Amino acid sequence: MYFIADLNYSFIALKLLNNQVNSCETRALCGLVTVVVCLVLLAACQRDQEHNAEFFVFGTIVNVKLWGASQEQSDIAFAELQRMFQGMHRDWHAWEPGRLTEINQAFANGQTVKADADIVAMVRRSQEIEQLSGGRFNPAIGALIRLWGFHTSDYPVIGPPPDQASIDEILTHRPSSQDIHIDGLQLRSENPYVQLDFGGIAKGYAVDLAIGRMRELGITSAIVNAGGDLRAMGRHGNRPWKVAVRKPGGGVIGAVEVRDDEALFTSGNYERFRQDERKRYPHILDPRSGWPVEDVASVTVIAGEGIVADAAATALVVAGLNGWPAVARALDLNQVLVVDESGMVYLTPEMERRMQFSGDVERVIVNVGISR
Ligand code: ADP
Ligand code: MG
Repeated sequence: MYFIADLNYSFIALKLLNNQVNSCETRALCGLVTVVVCLVLLAACQRDQEHNAEFFVFGTIVNVKLWGASQEQSDIAFAELQRMFQGMHRDWHAWEPGRLTEINQAFANGQTVKADADIVAMVRRSQEIEQLSGGRFNPAIGALIRLWGFHTSDYPVIGPPPDQASIDEILTHRPSSQDIHIDGLQLRSENPYVQLDFGGIAKGYAVDLAIGRMRELGITSAIVNAGGDLRAMGRHGNRPWKVAVRKPGGGVIGAVEVRDDEALFTSGNYERFRQDERKRYPHILDPRSGWPVEDVASVTVIAGEGIVADAAATALVVAGLNGWPAVARALDLNQVLVVDESGMVYLTPEMERRMQFSGDVERVIVNVGISR
C-alpha cells in the first residue's frame, strides 16, 4: 500500500480560485485573486519538481522523494519500489514464514538451500562486517533474538529475561555468519545454531537497492528515508538534502546536509526493548554475552552505503562507550555520533563539522584516527 502525493491539490486550489474570479464584482478583488492564482501557479511549478511517495515496509514508513524527475519517471519508479519493498518484506522477514525462515530451517537441519542473490549478498557483506567488528555485528544470532522475545512487532515485550542456561546453550555453539558456506546461490551452514536475522542490516540494504534502481531508471536526485535512516543521491533542487539526526527518547539532536550519494543511520536502544518490574532490556544484543547492551543510547553513522551505515551503527552500539572508537576505526568510518544514557554526545571531528545542532548540546570530540 502506498500513496503518491502529487499536484492534484494545487489544481483543486486553482479550480476553486477560478470559480471565484468568475463571480468577482469589484476590480480590486479580481486583482487580488489574480495575484493569489499566480502564487499558487508558482507553488505548483516548484512542486512539479518534487514527487513523493510513502511505503510501509519492515514495520516503518519509508518516505521517498524525487527531485527533477518527470511524472512518467516517478510513476515507474514508485511502482517499481512498491514491488521491491513488498518482495524484501516477504523474503527477508526473520520470523514470518517466508524465504529466510526456510533458509533458517535448512540450516537447523544441516541441509543445503538455494537463496536469492540479495540474501547471498547480505550474507557476504555480513561476513565481512562481522569480522571487522570483532563479532559485535552478527546476523547469525537469530536464536538469541528469538529467545529474548524480540521476534515481534509488539513493543515493549513484557517479562523477565530468559534464563541463563538457555542463553549459554546458544552461546556455546557460537553461531556466526562465518559458518555459512556460499556456493553460487547455494547456502549451507555447518552449525545448526546459525539462524539469520537481518534486523540490523535489512533497512540499510533496502535503501541501497532502492537508490540503485532509481539511478538505473535515470533519476539523479532522490532520498529514501525510513524514519530517519536514509540514503540520498543528488540534491534537493539547488541545495543539498537536509535531514534530522534523531535523539534518544524522541526529538532531534540536530541536522546534517547529506552529500551526493551518502547514507545516514541511527541505531537506538530506546524504542524497542523488553521490560520487567526491575528494568528495561534493549533489543540490541551483545553476541558474545547474549545480553542486551546498555551504556549507549544511540549511535549515528554516515557512510557511503546504507548496508555499511546500518550494520556499523548496530556494531558500535554493541562496542559501547569505551569500545566504539576502535571499532569505528576497524570499519574505516570516521563520521560517527554516540549518545550515552545521560544524553552526553561523543562525536568525531568529521561529524562535528557536519552537524547543525539544535540548541546547546554538551559534547566531547573523539578522534578515531582516520583522516579523510
Ligand atoms: P534499529 O531497530 O534502531 O534500526 P538496528 O539497526 O541496530 O536498530 O537493528 C536492531 C535489530 O538487529 C534487532 O531487532 C535484531 O533483529 C538485530 N540485532 C540485535 N543485535 C544484533 C547484533 N549484535 N548484530 C546484528 N544484528 C543484531
Ligand atoms: Mg543497524
